[in-house]
Amino acid sequence: MRIDTPPGDYEPFWSEAVAHLRSEITEQEYHTWFSRMTYAGADDSQVRLHVPSSFYRDQIAQRYRSKLEESLFELSGQPLRLAFEIRRTNGATVPTAHLENLPPPAATSAPRPHRPRHAQLNEEYLFSRFVEGEGNSFALAAATAIAKSPGREYNPCLIYGGVGLGKTHLLQAIGNEVYQEYRDLRVVYVTVETFTTEFIQSIRDKTVHRFKNRYRSTDVLMIDDVQFLQGKTETQQELFHTFNSLYDAGKQMVFSSDRPVTELKSLPDRLINRFERGLNIDLQPPDYETRIAILTQKVDESGIAVPSDVIEMICRNIESNVRDLEKALTKLTAYSNLVNRTITLEVASRELREFFATPFNIAVDTIQRVTADHYGLSLNDLKGKKRTKAIAFPRQLAMYITREVTELSTTEIGLEFGGRDHTTVMHACQRVAERKRTDSSLDPLIKHLIHTITQRSR
Ligand code: ADP
Ligand code: MG
Repeated sequence: MRIDTPPGDYEPFWSEAVAHLRSEITEQEYHTWFSRMTYAGADDSQVRLHVPSSFYRDQIAQRYRSKLEESLFELSGQPLRLAFEIRRTNGATVPTAHLENLPPPAATSAPRPHRPRHAQLNEEYLFSRFVEGEGNSFALAAATAIAKSPGREYNPCLIYGGVGLGKTHLLQAIGNEVYQEYRDLRVVYVTVETFTTEFIQSIRDKTVHRFKNRYRSTDVLMIDDVQFLQGKTETQQELFHTFNSLYDAGKQMVFSSDRPVTELKSLPDRLINRFERGLNIDLQPPDYETRIAILTQKVDESGIAVPSDVIEMICRNIESNVRDLEKALTKLTAYSNLVNRTITLEVASRELREFFATPFNIAVDTIQRVTADHYGLSLNDLKGKKRTKAIAFPRQLAMYITREVTELSTTEIGLEFGGRDHTTVMHACQRVAERKRTDSSLDPLIKHLIHTITQRSR
């Protein structure tokens, strides 16, 4: 835990309470939730903590509040409450007092006259919904700083990185924040594609002057996906002039690209040179902890119940791209709504196989070996004819798991298990399902086996 404020009297108690909790949770959990929280002081009745977003506040409160408050009470003899303050990267704090007293989000932004929100600004993309991690913290810090004082320091700014890493989210978040905070500024977000279409349309309609005026009168202009300028000579030229005009006027510009500027091969040097001015920052794929935090946030927003082992399994398998994490969740949500089944590890590993980076073909052989190993049986036992209890159940279990995590039919599964009939497979699956209802140790065992199987299948 970092401590960045002069400690109040309760700080040693706080550290101890956290140390205590740390011994009860995994390092990963600890890192995810506690590395971005700082002790910010205390008074007689509360310990104040800084957290980076409402998402963290809610998660930490939900997971650990009662435990931490209990420890604090035991250690200090005082009934201390935790009070979270959201401290965004730009240093602004938004006290949130106690969770129970939180105002609804809308109430915090007082109504005031505004220029209309630019049509392409999507209110969903906010800084508060962007999860910070090692790979994006620089870009996030720059974006936050730009939103705080547009046109000052980092101008222009270009954020680059692969697909689905949050470029659009950050550009939009800048737009939304400026829109909220500076009611007089004209904020425009546009993709290169839209910019191009509008430009062509304006030529056709003989309204180019209007097009030029519109873009040259912005205070904050965000242009997304500049790699698509390649091959569009006229649009490049128009953007070049827009750039110069805004740059001379000290207006803020933010661009995104899916690759570094030097790799934007067919763009003219003068445009490359403009993009290279100011600040260029790359976005890296999120690490495991960040993926967990992102997916947990999306799950909470989705309102569907996804157990933590499923979240972990998804984050282990989808490594490069936040958009794919979202797609996986969308698929699970659709599945759970349409089929009306709860989401389990079995369901998720079957339904999401197409998303997993490494082809994730689970061989029946692996299932059989892992199950046989677990029960200390040989592969021959498992596939053979013997029907003793010690063999029959593991065999049924292996069939059940095969049915759950592969797409094989019961006939195919029967063949894999020593040429048995499909009705035998169906019967086995029923038996296991029944036993799961009465034997509470079976579910964790199945999870454990599937986990081992998926590990060995990669
Ligand atoms: P890009 O423009 O780089 O291709 P996007 O900004 O469209 O990527 O991001 C893809 C999706 O992933 C969006 O829905 C975005 O909200 C989400 N996303 C990306 N990074 C994060 C993050 N750090 N925290 C929360 N959501 C994220
Ligand atoms: Mg994008």
